[in-house]
Amino acid sequence: MGRVVSYNDEVSRCTFCGKTENQVRKLVTGSGAAICDECIELCVDIISEERVKDAQLNTLQLPKPAQISAYLDNYVVGQESAKRTLSVAVYNHYKRVNMEMRESTELSDRATRENDDPLAGVQVAKSNILLLGPTGVGKTYLAQTLAKVMNVPFVIADATTLTEAGYVGDDVETVLQRLIQAADGDVARAQQGIIYIDEIDKIARKSGESTSITRDVSGEGVQQALLKILEGTVASVPVEGSRKHREMETVQIDTRDILFICGGAFVGLADIVAQRLGARESGFGAAWHEREVPKRELLAQASADDLADFGLLPEFIGRLPVVSVLEDLTEDDLARILVEPENALVKQYQKLFAIDGVTLTFTEDAVLQIAATSIRRGTGARGLRSIIEKTLEDTMFQLPSMTGVSEVVVDEASVNGSGTPKLLKVSTEEIPRRRTA
Ligand code: ADP
Repeated sequence: MGRVVSYNDEVSRCTFCGKTENQVRKLVTGSGAAICDECIELCVDIISEERVKDAQLNTLQLPKPAQISAYLDNYVVGQESAKRTLSVAVYNHYKRVNMEMRESTELSDRATRENDDPLAGVQVAKSNILLLGPTGVGKTYLAQTLAKVMNVPFVIADATTLTEAGYVGDDVETVLQRLIQAADGDVARAQQGIIYIDEIDKIARKSGESTSITRDVSGEGVQQALLKILEGTVASVPVEGSRKHREMETVQIDTRDILFICGGAFVGLADIVAQRLGARESGFGAAWHEREVPKRELLAQASADDLADFGLLPEFIGRLPVVSVLEDLTEDDLARILVEPENALVKQYQKLFAIDGVTLTFTEDAVLQIAATSIRRGTGARGLRSIIEKTLEDTMFQLPSMTGVSEVVVDEASVNGSGTPKLLKVSTEEIPRRRTA
């Protein structure tokens, strides 16, 4: 290995490789050390590699679409086609975000890239997502679970509470403000977050609605306001100041890389589609109605024109190019939702009871009865919790004041109200055995 060269050395050598100045093109000498051109090049390579690694750490760890979908399976029951569409869309979105981040690092040798790569100048546009489907089938839940798998900040906004800037109510910037809060004030992280906007169908312009001088609480004005942040804009958002400066500060947030997922039931859209298809098929709008095509099938065929007929602005529709239709949940789906997912409702209540040392059991019939009740109420999975809550209310009231109860069994009768949950006590012989166990 090289040695430290002193100024007195007759022949200078590279401190790193030991080559003499005659063996290399250039030897740079400093106080007590020298380095040759070859070693400089090697050092530059090492440093560049480290920088690339750092840049990769800054970019998001990107699971593959199949991995995203498999993760969703742990939480969301059914909705296979939506899971597939969403996995691909989210993968592509963050691939694009990562690509932009890599391109913006100084490391990428722009000149070489542009010469060698015919696609170097191509900008990949953002694809926000539109989810169509009835209430309580998992639209919000899918968006939320996606944010979890991607480990990005997430907020839910309700389109009906949004107003144009200047009106009383949440203006669109408030949503961005909440996203920054969800990212613990880290604007860079917020800029890669996911915003779910619920009830997007409610801001459709009603047909025949006049563009009046009265306040446009929800409708075209809100669509216009949303359009800006959907397509990407730099918005000024007030945020809480630091502890030292309590007054509000304004930060700039770029919405270009924020993924927007909009959801709505779009009641009436299926009829618009049916009419269009029916008219095309036979010249009479009734044809599709007569054959009773399931709503989901009709929604799956919804075109941009149908959404425009429904009352969404064409530019707005253009910003939501990925469309997925969620299905009505069947009784069987609801029964699975109760017991299968990682944080299934039945498991949640079992945990609550287990804290008091009580085993909570739901019979199969009870689970089916809860599912059937929720179907009857037309609330999808949303109604499940309140049915369980009602079923167990008395038990949860009495149990903490009772002693010796080891198990609570919920059967069909306790769900439909003709009976109550059975409370089982530990037999007296069993107690000492359990204590010693
Ligand atoms: P939507 O947004 O379609 O109206 P949500 O996603 O808010 O419905 O659903 C309400 C709740 O019901 C969720 O928080 C979730 O616990 C449960 N849920 C709904 N759909 C599903 C599903 N397909 N799989 C598992 N849980 C679901």
